[in-house]
Amino acid sequence: MKELKSNRLHIGIFGKTNVGKSSLLNKITGQEVSIVSDIAGTTTDVVEKSMELLPVGPVNFLDCAGINDETSLGEQRTEKTLKVLNRTDIAVLVCDYSGFDDNDESLIGRFNELNIPFIVVVNKTDIKEISDKKLSIIKGFTPNILITSAKNDDEIIYKFKSELIRLLPEEFVNTPKIVGDIVPEGSTVVLVIPIDKEAPKGRIILPQVQTLRDLLDSGCITLAVRDTELKTALENLKSPPTLVITDSQAFKKVDAIVPENIALTSFSILFARLKGDLNAFLHGAKAIDTLCDGDKVLILESCTHHAIEDDIGKVKIPNLLKKRTGKNLVIEHFSGHDFPDVSDYKLIVHCGACMTNRKEILSRILLSNKAGVPITNYGIAISYCLGISKRATTIFKKSV
Ligand code: SF4
Repeated sequence: MKELKSNRLHIGIFGKTNVGKSSLLNKITGQEVSIVSDIAGTTTDVVEKSMELLPVGPVNFLDCAGINDETSLGEQRTEKTLKVLNRTDIAVLVCDYSGFDDNDESLIGRFNELNIPFIVVVNKTDIKEISDKKLSIIKGFTPNILITSAKNDDEIIYKFKSELIRLLPEEFVNTPKIVGDIVPEGSTVVLVIPIDKEAPKGRIILPQVQTLRDLLDSGCITLAVRDTELKTALENLKSPPTLVITDSQAFKKVDAIVPENIALTSFSILFARLKGDLNAFLHGAKAIDTLCDGDKVLILESCTHHAIEDDIGKVKIPNLLKKRTGKNLVIEHFSGHDFPDVSDYKLIVHCGACMTNRKEILSRILLSNKAGVPITNYGIAISYCLGISKRATTIFKKSV
């Protein structure tokens, strides 16, 4: 089975126009992924290519337009290129024998700001060697440098892969567990999956599938029930389960059914830990009680989806926030990979991020913190508004 895009290592290829970014990508992938030409600015949009790059693993390359594109649409393309940074796990900055200019140095500034490890590839050495002076300037920024001619160098793929392996973020070396690290092997875990009008027809949603697989991998005995059968299921078990995991939307009902001595959390909280930073989101949720009349709250979703009548982001979370605070809040929504200007908001509530990679959420947490705006996520916000966030996160403290 193909690895999910959100679990792949995202490698962004950046640099000025006409330095051979696309030639490098084509050489590494062994395919004509991007159009190559001598005309500057041939790559006008972000080109994505997923592949298995052994022994690194499943990766997603993002070939970006030149950062110095001066064509009429150049500004928009540069903006798109910069947005790719938010989901980049490892950046590749390509330059040629001319070395760095201000564009390259400002890109490195952005890499550092977002904690993105990077490799510099000095390309086109078949045309001209880079001077020692120019190379020493690059060495002042990083020791991770490859000097090559992507056109002719058949060894570049091996050199590139060994650089990547050296820079791999921890979660790509040791794949983190969703839940298997917080419950002992052989534990019984109950999954509560309401089948209501929000449930997709004929299937269960991705975070539930992934959690089930993680539990099976961890040797747990897993029971999946609807909220309507939960009480009977618990009564029928010979001994209480170690943990109950519920869809956040049934939190209140499930909290009332599951006895206090049984640990309870939600799929969304598990994903807040896996895809983001649980402590940052818990801290962010505390801002709910400081909201005042007229304060703006941003509901931030990583992808667009058709909102149904009782949509979690459009209806449920706004209602819960208004009920908890008793304030007249201004709730706004934003969907997609872009990160809007958040400076006007008093709180950001992020979705479960099932379709995006962890780096994007970590970047969003970092950018929100920089803007001084607290950020939390759906599961944490729901449990906080219902007054059960302590119970819903106790299992993580026990496991440390
Ligand atoms: S990425 Fe966010 S908005 Fe998109 S389906 Fe997953 S939780 Fe919903």
